[in-house]
Amino acid sequence: MKVLVPVKRVIDFNVAVRVKADRTGVDLANVKMSINPFDEIAVEEAVRQKEKGKISEIVAVTIGPAAAQETLRTALAMGADRAILVRHDAELEPLAVAKTLKAICDQEQPGLVILGKQAIDDDCNQVGQMLAALLAWPQGTFAAQLEIQADRAQVTREVDGGLQTVEVKLPAVVTTDLRLNEPRYASLPNIMKARKKPIQEKTMSDYGVDPAPRLKVLEVTAPEKRRSGARVGSAAELVAKLKDRGVI
Ligand code: AMP
Repeated sequence: MKVLVPVKRVIDFNVAVRVKADRTGVDLANVKMSINPFDEIAVEEAVRQKEKGKISEIVAVTIGPAAAQETLRTALAMGADRAILVRHDAELEPLAVAKTLKAICDQEQPGLVILGKQAIDDDCNQVGQMLAALLAWPQGTFAAQLEIQADRAQVTREVDGGLQTVEVKLPAVVTTDLRLNEPRYASLPNIMKARKKPIQEKTMSDYGVDPAPRLKVLEVTAPEKRRSGARVGSAAELVAKLKDRGVI
């Protein structure tokens, strides 16, 4: 069985994001970019399932600028077999991403798509669900555990106060939650090997998808700066201060 793993290039999670002065978005100039952490978990899961003999081929795909090749190389170094880069230089909305992935699924016919539950740049949490709807495939979202058995998969999901296990018939879409696994570091030999693995380059028009945005971002603002704290001498003084400020 073939698995498709969509991966997105996003601002590295350690970077303190700066909002542009004109409030139209965030500053991406000279900022470290990395594979979306949930997508790294998706690649790791695909590699582990391949190691268990449950799947035979892992295809990583990204839709983004030329520099997104690096993101694909990360996935290839972790163990993906080949990759597809769909070149697109402007911002994309989840629906256009999902439509492109649907077209790729029509061509590649994977038995499973494993995506991140959300991209940490715009926190949309939409692509996996939209893709499942476009394909009319079942979905198991926010997976904390994945068991593949012949033509079915069991997805254990973390829900409020416990776990829920659902069974989906393959082909299906699964999105990854934080506790599914701990991604491996790619070894140097695997990073070298990844350089030789094939990356196929495509454009969105190859898949007949219109990338035009349907939403307009009106404004992006930075969170308010935290005010400095103050020490109080006693609980009574704290209560008095809170009452004074109308907090209690
Ligand atoms: P989102 O719905 O935008 O939060 O993204 C959910 C998941 O969809 C991500 O974790 C990725 O697996 C996938 N995804 C989103 N955007 C892209 C992209 N441009 N290229 C490849 N995969 C993407």
